[in-house]
Amino acid sequence: MNLDQRGRVQAEYVWIDSSGGTRSKTKKPRLIERAVGIPGLRLDAATRCHVNTTLTRRSLQTLSKPVTSVDELPEWNFDGSSTSQAPGDNSDVYLRPVAYYPDPFRQGDNILVLCETWDADGSPNKFNYRHDANRLMETNAHEGFWFGLEQEYTLLGTDGWPYGWPRGGFPGAQGPYYCGVGTGKVYCRDIVEAHYRACLYAGINISGINAEVMPSQWEYQVGPCPGIDMGDHLWMSRFLLHRVAEEFGVRISFEPKPIKGEWNGAGLHSNVSTNGTRADGGMKVIEAAMKKLEARHIEHIAVYGEGNEERLTGRHETGNIDKFSYGVADRGGSIRIPRQVAKDGKGYFEDRRPASNADPYQITGIIVETMCGGL
Ligand code: ADP
Ligand code: MN
Ligand code: MN
Ligand code: MN
Ligand code: MN
Repeated sequence: MNLDQRGRVQAEYVWIDSSGGTRSKTKKPRLIERAVGIPGLRLDAATRCHVNTTLTRRSLQTLSKPVTSVDELPEWNFDGSSTSQAPGDNSDVYLRPVAYYPDPFRQGDNILVLCETWDADGSPNKFNYRHDANRLMETNAHEGFWFGLEQEYTLLGTDGWPYGWPRGGFPGAQGPYYCGVGTGKVYCRDIVEAHYRACLYAGINISGINAEVMPSQWEYQVGPCPGIDMGDHLWMSRFLLHRVAEEFGVRISFEPKPIKGEWNGAGLHSNVSTNGTRADGGMKVIEAAMKKLEARHIEHIAVYGEGNEERLTGRHETGNIDKFSYGVADRGGSIRIPRQVAKDGKGYFEDRRPASNADPYQITGIIVETMCGGL
């Protein structure tokens, strides 16, 4: 990987698939697109073959110069029938670049390109939740929404059991693991550190990490991020986590309750503030938001992750899935207002309901919709 890449850039196009995973592939040559796209140029089969092989040899999987704006990145497509994002008889799904980040793996001028998925008829793909979220963020840009998400996840061995746990068995009860230090208390710190550094390199607004209550479960925080950046940064951080763990032969699970029983589940606590909540007297704005959030509890739960009912039991620092509640410093409610916020009379609140596998575009989108009204 230290070989000179002769000034050519590799762009890794990343998108979100139908099951909350990320997929990626490296950009085909822009040069070939241009050569083949010359209007009126007609090539016989032999010449076409020659043009393709020479150009391919020169520029396979490359763009030709460093990218300085997302607009320079061409649209691309993929076989949606292979990702359950399109039927086999109309399988092209289009990738529209929306943001790009320095690539921590290939480094240099190489980039990761986050894409929205679009169908052939010009409408957003069924699994493109960014499109509506972005419209909500743009409509309400003057509100100054900031989000900070706490992504919890579990590291698994290739056998699907938490990494470092006795094969088919369990470690000692929860207690020594949260923010633990030392062998037998924490697992996979090397992966966690490598992921943190990869996020920093890529310019992801990652703001911290901690080992969780269940061994081999960790959390990282991303934010505060304004508007649509929250979903963009979190999705790219998830891609990076899978990608880093792949180098270690370890699996990442975003399941909300990976181990049943007396083991903590995994959430995606979503911290929220606006110009109003951050200004003097912001507590009144937060109280008003609580009323609106209470009225749409069911609608929120519907997009707060699959399998969340196994996690939101009212135990293990969660609220009950059937009942909205909030309180100052209350980690057993739907929403917590941090004690410092109550003291200052302004700041942010924490929606503790979203599961670790929820889509950050859907979470941030519905929060804006509930607080400000729909499109
Ligand atoms: P805890 O584990 O106590 O719930 P963390 O420290 O893990 O809290 O996470 C707090 C989160 O709150 C961070 O992701 C941070 O970005 C976010 N945050 C802090 N201030 C604000 C704010 N004004 N608006 C939105 N999010 C905020
Ligand atoms: Mn093929
Ligand atoms: Mn936290
Ligand atoms: Mn946590
Ligand atoms: Mn939290």
